[in-house]
Amino acid sequence: MSTCEEEIFSFEVEWNDLCADPIIQGYLGDSLDHFMTIAETVLNDRFLHFMQRPCRLVLRLNGLTEDHKRKLDSLRMRDRRKLFTFDTLVVGRTPPLGYLQRASYACAAKGCDYIGQIDQRLARQRESPGQCPKCAERYLAGLEPEEREMAKRYLPRPSYRMVDEDLRYIDVQYLSVMDVNPDSEGPWSLGDHVWTAVVDEDFVDAYPVGSLVRLHASVQVDHLPERTFDKDTRRVMVLRVEGIEMLDEPATHFDEVTWTSEPAWR
Ligand SMILES: [Zn+2]
Repeated sequence: MSTCEEEIFSFEVEWNDLCADPIIQGYLGDSLDHFMTIAETVLNDRFLHFMQRPCRLVLRLNGLTEDHKRKLDSLRMRDRRKLFTFDTLVVGRTPPLGYLQRASYACAAKGCDYIGQIDQRLARQRESPGQCPKCAERYLAGLEPEEREMAKRYLPRPSYRMVDEDLRYIDVQYLSVMDVNPDSEGPWSLGDHVWTAVVDEDFVDAYPVGSLVRLHASVQVDHLPERTFDKDTRRVMVLRVEGIEMLDEPATHFDEVTWTSEPAWR
């Protein structure tokens, strides 16, 4: 599947509809990220036959309830993986970026045609495939079960090349967002801190600085991007945006907003 020509369509799903399904409901608590990934795969597989041109559906959440409302400034590590709704002002954004979401590897062994695809995560070291299953089978063919177990540990190191035309890139963008505190009398005030939210696909470049948006987002934990030693234990919280609604309240004006083009953690 070629990636660059893919068209993106967002597929909005109402929170209440998801909750109405007893099986899905079980996944919405702590493993929302996992659920969204699988749901998107299923959705795309189902629609694949109906697509005239290469396109991809992205799942978006909508209609979260008042119970989900949180202030960004109140987020702590114990909130990781949870889904909330935040009313925010976009105070900055990076240029559109990309990340390698799916890498394709072809086994470089002579006569082997194995190709493996590995889904990658944002801002993580790229994962390579392990042993080539086809080559391994060739080495192990004809061995007794016990010999197999032993021989498996001494298989030659696999060697792969990346299949350039099979790489899937996802557009992403980092938004800097702050809590908005509506005030019917005077100017609206902002929260104390600038937080980082990641948007992807059709959300990229759709919300200029100054946008008032309601984010439906899960709290993710990420390495400090500028960490200088390998096993740095410090983490930052980053919001993974699963849905956006424009806030149509007339935000009269804000005092003292510092606009930025850098992510909040820089
Ligand atoms: Zn191979």
